[in-house]
Amino acid sequence: MPNQTLVMKFGGTSVGSTEALINAMQIIRDARAEWPRLVVVTSAMAGVTNLLLDSASQAAHGNINSLPEAEKTLREKHFAAADELVQDENPCLETKQEINALILSFVDLCKAIAVLGEASPRALDAVASLGERMSVRLLGAIVENTGIKSEVIEATEFIITNDHFQNAHPVIKVTTEKTRRILKPLLDEGIIPITTGFIGATPDGVITTLGRGGSDYSAAIIGAVLPADDVWIWTDVDGVMTTDPRIVPSARTLPEITYSEIAELAYYGAKVLHPKTIRPVVEAGIGLRICNTFNPSHPGTRLIANAKSNGKPVNGRVVKAVTAIRKQRLITVEGRGMLGVPGVAARAFGAVASTGTSVPLITQASSEQSICFAVPDETAAPVVNALEKAFADELEERDIDRIWKTEDVSIITVVGVGMIHTPGVAGQIFSQLGKNNVNVLAIAQGSSEVSISMVVSAEDTELAVKALHELIVK
Ligand code: ASP
Ligand code: MG
Repeated sequence: MPNQTLVMKFGGTSVGSTEALINAMQIIRDARAEWPRLVVVTSAMAGVTNLLLDSASQAAHGNINSLPEAEKTLREKHFAAADELVQDENPCLETKQEINALILSFVDLCKAIAVLGEASPRALDAVASLGERMSVRLLGAIVENTGIKSEVIEATEFIITNDHFQNAHPVIKVTTEKTRRILKPLLDEGIIPITTGFIGATPDGVITTLGRGGSDYSAAIIGAVLPADDVWIWTDVDGVMTTDPRIVPSARTLPEITYSEIAELAYYGAKVLHPKTIRPVVEAGIGLRICNTFNPSHPGTRLIANAKSNGKPVNGRVVKAVTAIRKQRLITVEGRGMLGVPGVAARAFGAVASTGTSVPLITQASSEQSICFAVPDETAAPVVNALEKAFADELEERDIDRIWKTEDVSIITVVGVGMIHTPGVAGQIFSQLGKNNVNVLAIAQGSSEVSISMVVSAEDTELAVKALHELIVK
């Protein structure tokens, strides 16, 4: 593959232990043999980002008692792997010193947060970024130790973002220019750049993060701007599965999935890929593969361009995957006085937005004169409050009878290109649920026309997923 470029991203579990790092190192060595130009992107070691952010939020409440324990955990995690996998004494010591300096700055930051009594989004990004800044040094030393030429670079050097801390957006023009300027000379010399996922910097050099789970997105951005030929996401499962194997043990890996299908899956709870990862690679026409660090010979799942199904099932299968998002509530605003009154929906969703809640599913049953939508469990009470305030007059006048929330519910989503245009699929779905005595509380169809979502009671979640998964197996 002369001059082909590959970007490989390792997730938290893929660099989370000595064993995982041995696999990652072998994967890098094997890829090196096939791809003359290789970029490696890493997440923080599993559990580290959570530990850092938990410590910061405790510090914001004035509690720094557990800081020494957190410090110790971070040291042990990184140092154990360095001691075992970086045999040369000097590089091992140097790596540990660099990681130690980052741990000390973590302690300083948390103490500063405790003094201030608050953690700003900017401060939280400074803390959260330390996980990747540590793991990248560890992985870099391990790769160097095997004699492969590599160079550790923090993505703050070339992924330039706006200052929307905790969910920063890359400024593509500068990012493209810098990424090429910094990475290309290394690639030309056959050196592997090993860089941090998740983080970037503002034009002024202030550290930002791209949002939780954002390392996938980092790999996609780097792949898109270089551009690379392929982006591989190394995780701890064999790719995208037909459903959660903890619910259905016979769930299997999908060899291929289209971009719009995976977008629906990522949105509806299958934690395989950060949802923002998809757009940059689709737009740049770059291949994307999801594969398992712990089973590297498995081909994993390949993302493919949206097949022009013309309403026909792709590969003879219409339903491809089933997901569940748990811990949701349905909120209903109902009343006969809403009939034909313009602006009710706008005001309802304005009230929801004012609480900072995003809504994964909406339905409106016109005959009942009600608007119904799902929100995450913990936001239900504030959302109902905000709605009652917004519609105080209508409630008083009895134009709106009531605003209420259900008990705990789950959103079950069935995904498959060609599903919607294939007659009878919706019928199959609902009769399958009916046969299994699953009561459907609400229904919505994804606008991309590749998914149907149903809301069911929490206790029916597993039953619904199992029943719908049978439609795939058939
Ligand atoms: N370490 C970051 C997180 O846990 C980013 C990532 O793993 O993708 O959110
Ligand atoms: Mg991750």
